[in-house]
Amino acid sequence: MSKYGKNSIENSFKYKHGGSSVRWAIFSASLKNFEAYLASVFDTIYKHHKTSFLKFRMTSEETQISEHLKGCYENLIVIDIGANLTNKKYGRDLDSVIQRAKDAGVQKIMVTGTSVKNSKEALRLTRLYPGTIYSTAGVHPHDAKSMVEEEMWTELRQIAAAPECVAVGECGLNYTKDFSEPQVQRAVFKRQVEMACQLGKPLFVHEKEAQEDLLKILDEHAGRLSSVVVHSFTGSVDQGLKYIEKGFFLGITGYICKDKSDGGIRRLLSERALPLDKLLVETDSPFMYPNMRASKLPLHVKDSLTERSMNFVNRYCTFQRNEPCALPAVVELVAGFLGEKPEDVALATAFNALKIFGLSQ
Ligand SMILES: [Zn+2]
Repeated sequence: MSKYGKNSIENSFKYKHGGSSVRWAIFSASLKNFEAYLASVFDTIYKHHKTSFLKFRMTSEETQISEHLKGCYENLIVIDIGANLTNKKYGRDLDSVIQRAKDAGVQKIMVTGTSVKNSKEALRLTRLYPGTIYSTAGVHPHDAKSMVEEEMWTELRQIAAAPECVAVGECGLNYTKDFSEPQVQRAVFKRQVEMACQLGKPLFVHEKEAQEDLLKILDEHAGRLSSVVVHSFTGSVDQGLKYIEKGFFLGITGYICKDKSDGGIRRLLSERALPLDKLLVETDSPFMYPNMRASKLPLHVKDSLTERSMNFVNRYCTFQRNEPCALPAVVELVAGFLGEKPEDVALATAFNALKIFGLSQ
């Protein structure tokens, strides 16, 4: 029961809910379901790791994760695995942005590094908000052409090696814009994949219309990489399936509101082709605003949205500036398309994030 005794949880729960024993009974029953759920998640993970685990057993690290999650069960606990909080749009009020995220139930935020300069800045934020902010270190394909001096690589590696930096990236290939030549993008991407292998850190990937070339490079490193996360996935069902077959994780954003195609993310989710154990959620703030009004959501998806989550989006987020506090709404939308409960999507994605990235510093 995390750091509190059972009775103190019971008392504080009853206090919050006007002393209701009935609600406590419901809550503690759901806690038991949750424990069973966690056990099944662990079980699945061990099936994937075909090592000598003949029987399901929790390691101390996993017990810690499960204890941590239990403590947060009263609210939706979610982890934003990608927010560009070094963007100058947050220059004036980052403290409030992070406080709002916490109020919304976003416990941890990974700040994306997209160049040497802002990977350094992202790492600085981890020190200002320890235990809440984590960073990645990488060079976005648009910025590939900037990696001209060898010292920049040395600096990037130093940043990536810091314990608060939990992944190499974002890095990858983007053939929709020509900010950097494709061959330059490939060379700069390869070097970052190599760096992730050497540091033993997960790879945080960006890919737009370049899946074939991207997979070619990743295949060359197969077996040496730890986890691969394709962040802000906006591709087709077929593209999604190719990544899932490789064992990669997909990060889903508010783009789910924008994509109305027949064969895109909505379909990937509603046909349950993307399993919960490969799913992550992110806001990609300040981008990917979840515009729930204009998106013609099916009724059953609308039903999964809570007033609380929508309030955070409606009050604080716009097309110009999305915020991590929009993440619970994204979780509810994803849950709606999947036909799952939002709590289950929240737990599964938080669990996946903790397993892949650690996030315990
Ligand atoms: Zn990206």
